[in-house]
Amino acid sequence: MADTLLPVADARHLVHSTIKPVEAEHIKLRHALGRVIAENSVARVSHPPADLAAMDGYAIRTSDLVSLPTKINIVGESAAGQPWKGKLNSGECIRIFTGAIVPETADAVVIQENTTAENGLVQINRPLIKGKNIRARAQDFYKGEAILKYPHMLNARDIGLLAAMNLPEVKVYRRPRIGVLSTGNEILQPGETISEGQIFSANGPGLCAFIESKGAQAFNLGIVPDNLSKLRDAIKRSGELDMLVSSGGVSVGDHDLVKRAAIEEGLQIYFHKIAMRPGKPLLYGTLKNMPFFGLPGNPVSAMVCAVIFLGPAIAMLSGLPGDAPESLTARLSNDIAANNDREHYIRAVLQRSESGLPTVTSLTNQDSALIKLLSEANALICHAPHAEALSNGSPVRVIPLT
Ligand code: AMP
Ligand code: MG
Repeated sequence: MADTLLPVADARHLVHSTIKPVEAEHIKLRHALGRVIAENSVARVSHPPADLAAMDGYAIRTSDLVSLPTKINIVGESAAGQPWKGKLNSGECIRIFTGAIVPETADAVVIQENTTAENGLVQINRPLIKGKNIRARAQDFYKGEAILKYPHMLNARDIGLLAAMNLPEVKVYRRPRIGVLSTGNEILQPGETISEGQIFSANGPGLCAFIESKGAQAFNLGIVPDNLSKLRDAIKRSGELDMLVSSGGVSVGDHDLVKRAAIEEGLQIYFHKIAMRPGKPLLYGTLKNMPFFGLPGNPVSAMVCAVIFLGPAIAMLSGLPGDAPESLTARLSNDIAANNDREHYIRAVLQRSESGLPTVTSLTNQDSALIKLLSEANALICHAPHAEALSNGSPVRVIPLT
């Protein structure tokens, strides 16, 4: 009987239904870049904290400008962090600098370039409207305002905002801890002495790097041979983790023992065969409640499965919704053959275009063992199951690879 292949979207829903975010913790804002907030961030202060000068000049009362030019007495000075505490009477102004508090009795700041000052008097030549060059109190945000809503991954701009909100600590989801197991009798760690027929593990280091690029903590658990009890031991040792990812040994060959080992360790299987290329033999299940991905061994398949499934799963563990990877529309610059029943993620080169949509060119060789070509590619063209042939110039959906 032919294998039933699960559509990619259905597989993603199954993964969604099994993953919960890890717990939250309070950390210093300084270390919060890339973390996902677990509660709304509420401002502890207003910004600006008072009416502040937006320019260097003189804080004046616009009611003094009825006839121009006019000369006004300079009675004090307000600098950033050193406010002037007095009250302006009619005919009086103060020297003021950017960021300084504007006294309540002033209602505009005239910029120094439009004045001439002499003997304690400043001459104003041009009219000025009320509020000119003043940044009003709380114009940016107010004390008690919920600004960043959870869940949200913090970027550098957010960190600056949270600091301005006087939040030296933030409540964020812990970084998920994810283990990576490479399997296969022929696999070596880079740097080890190689014998005939052996290859170096691209997947261990590559998948760890992918996991870290998504903000999680990766643990390279090394290489396990195609041996049932050794695979079982390695799986057993992963209990402390939030997710386990293996590569290799999930196909149907005599030495593909990962599924059997995981079942013997209590794996509840959600799917094993996906309607995608590369990456058909993708195993997914839970070990107790821990999600487990058994990725295929071919490095391109493993990395494409990581982009399509692992990335969203890590996002979910980190507290985010875990949407499908971001995609964009590009214009094809070569022809693509009609597709069969598996969603095809075609390795391609995406390029900016001076006018209109970016262009995308598929690589001629799509063999899923060719690691150099995956590195040359910077995008995957999504070719739907049973889609017709596409010709040069057609718009296509593309997932950029980061
Ligand atoms: P498998 O899924 O175990 O049948 O492996 C498929 C192909 O991927 C074989 O040619 C393996 O040698 C290769 N492979 C498996 N694991 C790795 C790895 N960690 N790094 C590079 N290639 C691998
Ligand atoms: Mg193998």
